[in-house]
Amino acid sequence: MESLDNLKRKIYLWIIPFIILALIIFSIVHPNPAASGQFNEMVTPILFWIMLVSWYMIFQNIFFRAIEYMNLAIISLAHIASVYDSIYHLMAMGKPGALGISVIWTPLVFILFFLTLQSKLGLIYSLIIFAVTLGFSMFNLNHIPAYYLLPLVQYYIANIVYIVILFFFQKVFKMHGEMELLKRNASVDALTGIANRSQIDLWLDEHAEKATRLGTSFSIIFFDIDHFKMVNDEFGHKAGDNVLKEFAQLIKEFLPNTGFFGRWGGEEFLIIFNGPLEKAAEWAEGLRKEISRYQFTVGGIQTASFGVTDFHPGETTDSMLGRADMGLYESKNHGRNQITLV
Ligand code: GH3
Ligand code: MG
Ligand code: MG
Repeated sequence: MESLDNLKRKIYLWIIPFIILALIIFSIVHPNPAASGQFNEMVTPILFWIMLVSWYMIFQNIFFRAIEYMNLAIISLAHIASVYDSIYHLMAMGKPGALGISVIWTPLVFILFFLTLQSKLGLIYSLIIFAVTLGFSMFNLNHIPAYYLLPLVQYYIANIVYIVILFFFQKVFKMHGEMELLKRNASVDALTGIANRSQIDLWLDEHAEKATRLGTSFSIIFFDIDHFKMVNDEFGHKAGDNVLKEFAQLIKEFLPNTGFFGRWGGEEFLIIFNGPLEKAAEWAEGLRKEISRYQFTVGGIQTASFGVTDFHPGETTDSMLGRADMGLYESKNHGRNQITLV
């Protein structure tokens, strides 16, 4: 899964060029310097360079967290200064469109707060910055022309809405992520990363249902590593775990696209093979050889014993599994490292 930091880096790498573009356009196409406020004049070139350097540093992944916090501080100051400018300079002088630029960029400012700080901290920080900008209007109320009051009130209300929406959106995304993780953990074996038993059970039920409905069949290959206890005894449990991981990886690479493969438990694995019994047996024989030739990093040569059977229309998956288990048991009894068809 992609890390949160990587995702954030991608977002910044996409957004910053547009901010830079906006800053360039603002500097070049300057309709009326007197109408843009004192702050914008001064700060645009500084912001331009900071954004340019930030983009490069984020691109190179240098001091990412530091850059993020620095940008948070700078954007916060720029936002506060921009609102201050609007209220104390432009509005007080009755300039038209005084709230213009602050209004346009305010949602992004709050998005950035939540992106950097997340959840509760993002909420608290956003509310503090909001309170500061609200304070400007409160303390300058007598100097603000009456026709600005309505847009100003709307502006502040919209700010609150942005903050609340972002706070809950973040919660929704977090919950979504957690649910995905839960779903994944419910079907994936933690050690080997392949399907676990409950996932295999689901697959088996699906296959059995479909085979019964269409009058087709499928096979299962049930296998167990031989004398696996000796690996643990000889090299330790950790090495045993690594053999299991490597074993799962080996099978995964050998598996056809139509095969479903999972860990049944311990050192027992199961493959659902979309094909008739003879084909499954032939393929399992190839797998057995492949395993017996493979040199494990720790543990050297390992072998496995197999039970192969096919689905008999109308039977339960348990009865099919029972047959495969019997086949496996026979393979063990007859000297291991072999397959038995049942
Ligand atoms: P056989 O050829 O009859 O299958 O012999 P065996 O030793 O493989 O079988 P047995 O059932 O006696 O022992 C299985 C061993 O597998 C015992 C258990 O400690 C080990 N095992 C099961 N799960 C894990 C695991 O997740 N990690 C490790 N390291 N060992 C495991
Ligand atoms: Mg075993
Ligand atoms: Mg076993």
